[in-house]
Amino acid sequence: MTTIPAVAPIADKEQNMIVVMKVGSPEEEIERISTELQEWRLTPEKIVGKHKVVIGLVGDTASLDPLQIEEISPWIEEVLRVEKPFKRVSLEFRHGEPSEVVVPTSSGLVTFGQHHPVVVVAGPCSVENEEMIVATAKSVRAVGAQFLRGGAYKPRTSPYAFQGHGESALELLAAAREASGLGIITEVMDTADVEKVAEVADVLQVGARNMQNFPLLKKVGAQDKPVLLKRGMSATIDEWLMAAEYILAAGNPNVILCERGIRTFDSHYARNTLDLAVIPILRSLTHLPIMIDPSHGTGRAEYVPQMAKAALAAGTDSLMIEVHPNPAKALSDGPQSLTPERFDRLMQELGIIGKALGRWTQPAVAVS
Ligand code: PEP
Ligand code: MN
Repeated sequence: MTTIPAVAPIADKEQNMIVVMKVGSPEEEIERISTELQEWRLTPEKIVGKHKVVIGLVGDTASLDPLQIEEISPWIEEVLRVEKPFKRVSLEFRHGEPSEVVVPTSSGLVTFGQHHPVVVVAGPCSVENEEMIVATAKSVRAVGAQFLRGGAYKPRTSPYAFQGHGESALELLAAAREASGLGIITEVMDTADVEKVAEVADVLQVGARNMQNFPLLKKVGAQDKPVLLKRGMSATIDEWLMAAEYILAAGNPNVILCERGIRTFDSHYARNTLDLAVIPILRSLTHLPIMIDPSHGTGRAEYVPQMAKAALAAGTDSLMIEVHPNPAKALSDGPQSLTPERFDRLMQELGIIGKALGRWTQPAVAVS
């Protein structure tokens, strides 16, 4: 009988700390502390909050005593350890300050974040042809959407199902942006396509099936466009946050987390179980903005409006809604797509809740 040798557990030396500076700390002092910490082989990251500056420390902090660091400067208020496995995405790492993802679009800056109006992303599952994508873009813009969604590269369960029009669909998305002024969110599935998709997309979507595609996470983390990270259909919250951590660790701080329903024991009446409890849970764990996708979350157009309203009431920062000019003829996800008319009505309903919460902007002016 072969015996398996006992393997000593590998110590996770990647602990982290944050250095909280006192209000009004001089800039030179923050620089001096950061330089000194670099000499200790730590990677300091300066995070400027509304009231305070915090220096996040990534590296081997396990053997360091927070008191040792506090001695560096009288301007240090306190030094805290980040106990969570995720570091940069954790709420502690920003000392409780929510982050904002600011996206430049042809109509101006759009901000995803807890202290901003809710951002609505709408459009078809797939980009099918120029006429439908341009028409959908104009109709959703006219009632207040700020981003157009639409897949050029589609992750389909069956290899025989429509896979998306690929590169030519990216050109159609660019045409729809031109015609509508909307920002563009579209999925990238392959590391080899990141640059190409990023040329057109204002936000890169990493789909549920790729949430743990680590080479892809590293690649989108090493470029500048913001990333919409969908939750894997069987991913725990920790796994999801660790996936986001990959993107931040690779250098891109602009990540939006999108809940799109998870797989539970009953998929008979709804395609997935939309986990709205993640809104308060994520709020307690991370500073990153949150998006809810009730279209994939339910799989049924008739359930989408109620879940969209519930998500807004529960405090989401953004909504993603699939809209198709003729859902019965859609090449993908027709059953969960709203018609432009139903979407218009939904936006009015959302407006009532959004305004009551102080998180709604007036609809955009109609585009011709
Ligand atoms: C989509 O947004 O059309 C999509 C494929 O989403 P998910 O990755 O959440 O299934
Ligand atoms: Mn879809």
